[in-house]
Amino acid sequence: MPKFRGETIASLIAKRSVLRPGSIPSTGAPHILKRVPNIRGNYWAVRAKFAASDKVPGGQSEYDTVLVFHNIEFEENKSSKCPFKTTALGHVYYMTIPQLSKTMVRLSCTCADYYWTWWYYNKKYNALSGVDLPHPTKVTGLSVRQTDGKPYGSSGIGERNTAHKPGICKHINSLANELVAEGRVKK
Ligand SMILES: [Zn+2]
Repeated sequence: MPKFRGETIASLIAKRSVLRPGSIPSTGAPHILKRVPNIRGNYWAVRAKFAASDKVPGGQSEYDTVLVFHNIEFEENKSSKCPFKTTALGHVYYMTIPQLSKTMVRLSCTCADYYWTWWYYNKKYNALSGVDLPHPTKVTGLSVRQTDGKPYGSSGIGERNTAHKPGICKHINSLANELVAEGRVKK
């Protein structure tokens, strides 16, 4: 399997800070739904949901957040290189430890900030997981999408990511921190 090249959580935070200096706002704790190892694909995916704290009428009540760690190695025996136990299709494997400063990631979130600010540039930087996000009218009911594909708000909102950098939303940040807190991922 060729190495996946792209961004790490640390590099995305650094690039995000060009547009948004300062710390990333905190949010509620993630409810982690699934941790999915993919042995042949050499990745480990974590899916979580968050309660929407900034709910708008007609908006989503929760966000669906996905963080995929790439270039993960799996072995059948526990070793210092592969210490973490995981199970795929009923079979036990041991995996390498993802690291926020080194492990390449792809990610996605259904929150408005991820849509309006990050997904388009994350796709350009090979850091978007899954398919392209849906047409913005399905996300907020407020917006138009111009022909170059970048998300723009309707009149008066304008282009949000004027730095044209990739980055992460507060939900991805909270999920990454939670995985570090539980010892499953290193900083
Ligand atoms: Zn988000």
